[in-house]
Amino acid sequence: MLSTGPRGTKDILPDVSGYWQYVENEARNICSLYGYREIRTPVFEHTELFLRGIGETTDIVEKEMYTFKDRGERSITLRPENTAAVVRAYLEHKLYADTPPAKLFYIGPMFRYDRPQAGRYRQFHQFGIEAIGSKGPAIDAEIILLATQFLKKLGLDDLVLQINSVGCPECRPKYRVVLQDFLRDKLTNFCKDCQSRFDRNPMRILDCKNEKCGALSQGAPQMSDCLCEECDTHFNHLKELLTAANIDFTINPRLVRGLDYYTKTAFEIQYAPLGAQSAVCGGGRYDGLISECGGQPTPAIGFAIGMERVLLALEKQQLLPSIGHHMNVFVMPIGTQAQALAFKLLCNIRQAGHTADMDFMERSLKAQMKLANKYSAKFAVIIGDDEVATGKVLLKDMKTGEQQHIMVEELLNKLDAEVEE
Ligand code: ATP
Ligand code: MG
Repeated sequence: MLSTGPRGTKDILPDVSGYWQYVENEARNICSLYGYREIRTPVFEHTELFLRGIGETTDIVEKEMYTFKDRGERSITLRPENTAAVVRAYLEHKLYADTPPAKLFYIGPMFRYDRPQAGRYRQFHQFGIEAIGSKGPAIDAEIILLATQFLKKLGLDDLVLQINSVGCPECRPKYRVVLQDFLRDKLTNFCKDCQSRFDRNPMRILDCKNEKCGALSQGAPQMSDCLCEECDTHFNHLKELLTAANIDFTINPRLVRGLDYYTKTAFEIQYAPLGAQSAVCGGGRYDGLISECGGQPTPAIGFAIGMERVLLALEKQQLLPSIGHHMNVFVMPIGTQAQALAFKLLCNIRQAGHTADMDFMERSLKAQMKLANKYSAKFAVIIGDDEVATGKVLLKDMKTGEQQHIMVEELLNKLDAEVEE
């Protein structure tokens, strides 16, 4: 299988990488607007970090991790997400010693053994942010705003923001009991996964993708009815802040995360035209994670946006900018004698800061002209035997077709002046 890449991976080719750069730049811009700074962590970590930081009863840990022993017999895992690694780095490098909250963002590849289909790959990319140290709810509103503003800036409208509160270790155990009471006598009709979730992580039964399970859990009691006073107040404040910021949202009581360290705010942004893989952003508060990883109890919240899904959405809505392969100047040596002078000129032109390329294939004049047009070059610099002899080159304005002989020394001044115009 040398002729294809591994299943679920994709090559991002030069015709497409410009779109990625565009989206990445927008991500960087909005992060700097909001005061989030970039963190780059390794693509692999000790497996133990993800067992703790994601949770042993999650789909990711149970079914989706790329885990292997390295040559030193250590268990290593390619990161399936980045929150745990950011928390690890935050603790390892004592970022808490800096003025809180720590506001961090990352962009990079993640790895999950998912079932490949449109919008679902085994190597995919996330843009994510983490705000560590504030208990909110203003920071919750800020990061939700950042995510929606990022997507809107790219031109995506009709986004659906769903929010929920998943409570805290104080109120969730009570909800768990109420939920289990509701589910118990129907349990045999649920899928195998849900049956095993019943004891370990019953809240996840509510977001089972199986239709039958979804129908069976209709009418289940809702977390929002069981929130303790603190969680209830937090959720109400968040809703007020979002309303004040003109952000539309709907409350989805089924948006859940069953693990103890996920607390209070959970949210997701859907883009319906994407169909089955419509979730572009998932996020939430994880007040218990930092202590789970060995730090002092520290509140935190973050999100991750799937870059491939954003790019699919932009493509679908024809919102991708036109990104061509442009060169300001194309240098055209005609004949072997002209090569050396052409190459020297090319170097000088680039040194002066003009994008430039030349023919490296000994093409005919006609074929080189075609190339200059393909690159939408503003100027062609033509160098034949005559030009080598006289030290003058032929400068052609590709738009007007005007041509003039000028001295090599003058060429750069001329280019500067013309390109500035
Ligand atoms: P799903 O339910 O679609 O599997 P998830 O809950 O596993 O999503 P998160 O872990 O919350 O997803 O990741 C955040 C975002 O990353 C998702 O909303 C999605 O846009 C993107 N994402 C997750 N898994 C993949 C994947 N295998 N391929 C491409 N994008 C992905
Ligand atoms: Mg998944």
